[in-house]
Amino acid sequence: MRRKEFDEARKRLMARRQELVTVIQGGDAGIAEIRAEREIEFGDEAQSEEEQERIARIGEAESAELARVDTALARLDAGSYGTCAACGDPIEPRRLEASPYAVQCAACAGATPKRP
Ligand SMILES: [Zn+2]
Repeated sequence: MRRKEFDEARKRLMARRQELVTVIQGGDAGIAEIRAEREIEFGDEAQSEEEQERIARIGEAESAELARVDTALARLDAGSYGTCAACGDPIEPRRLEASPYAVQCAACAGATPKRP
């Protein structure tokens, strides 16, 4: 990968990281909002199981994505970004474009069969 591509990838990842951190940190505020909404709709009825689950899941997907962003940033720092972690071949630029935290090439990730 060229220097410019690294810089662009880092910029994208840092921007996404900031978004995710904002969502995760806003999670508590989100929960308070749901509770307030529910009080208006249902008074002081006990929370349903479904609702408890919904609250528990806030930020779950974002936390998982944040871990992937951090992994990609660590690989950028180590200079291994854009290189397949499994076979060492360069990861297809199109693949990185679609999934900036890909750590394997399409073949190793099983997306397409590898040509001999
Ligand atoms: Zn590979």
